[in-house]
Amino acid sequence: MLLLLLLVWAGSSRADEYAAKQRELAEIKEAQSRAQALLADLAKTESAIMAELRELDQELARAKQELARVEQARQRTSASLAEIEKEVKTATQRYEESQAKLAEIMVGYNRRLRQLYMSSGTDLLDLLLVPGAVDDWVMRLRLFSALLEQDVELYQRVSAQKAATEAERARLNRERTRLQQERTRLTQLERQAQQQVDQVAKRRAERDQKLQEILKEKSGQEQAIKELAANSQRIQAWLEANKPPPPPTPKPTPGTAEPRVKFARPVAAPITANFGWRLDPLDNVNRFHEGVDFGAPEGTPIKAAGEGRVVLAGWVGGYGYTIIIEHANGYSTLYAHASRLLAEVGQWVNTGQIIAEVGNSGVSTAPHLHFEVRRGGQPVNPLEYLSE
Ligand SMILES: [Zn+2]
Repeated sequence: MLLLLLLVWAGSSRADEYAAKQRELAEIKEAQSRAQALLADLAKTESAIMAELRELDQELARAKQELARVEQARQRTSASLAEIEKEVKTATQRYEESQAKLAEIMVGYNRRLRQLYMSSGTDLLDLLLVPGAVDDWVMRLRLFSALLEQDVELYQRVSAQKAATEAERARLNRERTRLQQERTRLTQLERQAQQQVDQVAKRRAERDQKLQEILKEKSGQEQAIKELAANSQRIQAWLEANKPPPPPTPKPTPGTAEPRVKFARPVAAPITANFGWRLDPLDNVNRFHEGVDFGAPEGTPIKAAGEGRVVLAGWVGGYGYTIIIEHANGYSTLYAHASRLLAEVGQWVNTGQIIAEVGNSGVSTAPHLHFEVRRGGQPVNPLEYLSE
C-alpha cells in the first residue's frame, strides 16, 4: 500500500515536473520571439541613425566649407583695410605737407609785402632827392613784383595739390568706411557659420552617442537570444529524455478478436470535413486529411473522447493549441486549433471530461475542432471509432 502510494506520488510529481518544464519551454520560446522582434527594431533604428549620421557628415562638411570661405573673405578684407589705412596715412601726410608749404608761402609773401610797403613808406622826397633813388626803387618794385608773382603761382600750384590730396584722402576714407562695414558684416557671417558648424557637430555627436547606445543594447539582446537558445535546447533535451512512457499495449491473444475500441464524440457539432484525401481549402493542394473537422463556435467545450493520460498540451505548429491523450491498447486521440487548453501534461482524464475549448489557433480559417484518432501512431478514420 505504502509502496503504491509512493509510486503514485512519484509518478504525479514527475508529471508535474514535466508539465512545468513544458511551460518553461513555452515561456522561453515567447521570450525568444520577443527578443528577436526587439533586435529587428534595434537594427532598423541603427540603420536609420547611420543614414542620419551620413547626412549630418555632409551637412558638417558644407558648414565647414562655408566657414572657411567667409573666414578667407574676412581676412582678405582685413588685409585691404590695412592697405587703405596706410594709404590714408600717406595721403594725410601729403595733405599736411601741402598745408605747411602753403603756410610757408604765405609767410614769405607777407614778409615781401611788408617789405614793399615799408619801402613805399619811405619819404617820396628822399627818393626824388637822392640821385638814382627812383630808379633803384622802381627796380626794387619790379623785383618784388616778380617775387610776389612767383609766390602767387607757387601758392596756386600748392593749393591745387592740396585740393587733389584732400579729394584723394576723402576717397580713401570712404573706401575705408566701406571696408570696415564689409569686415563687420563678414565677422558676423563668420560667427554665424561657426555657430552652424558647432550646432551640426553637436547634433552629430548626439546621434553618434545614440548609435553607441543602440549597438550596446543590440549586443545585449544578441547575448540574451544566445542564452535563451541554450536554455531552450537544454529543456528540450530534458523533455526528450523524460517523455512519459506510453501505456503498455496488451498483446492480442492469438485466436481472440481484438476488442473493438469506441470513442465518444469530442464536441456536440456537425462534421465539416472527413478523413481522407481532400483539396486543402487553404492552398488548393490535394492532401491527406488525418482526422475529421467539427465546425463549432469558438469557446465550445472539447471533451476527452476516452479516458487516458494527457501526453501533450501546448502549441504544435500549424495545429495551434493542441492536446494529445494516450489511451489503452496503443490508441491516442488528438484535438487541434483550440482557443484554450484546460488539461495539463501527465493529467489523467475521464471520458467526457472537458479538456479544451474550440478555437481558430494555428493554420485554420474558421473556429473548428480537428480531431484525430491514432493507432500505434498511425491516423485511422475516427468515424469508425466514434459511438453514435
Ligand atoms: Zn482537420
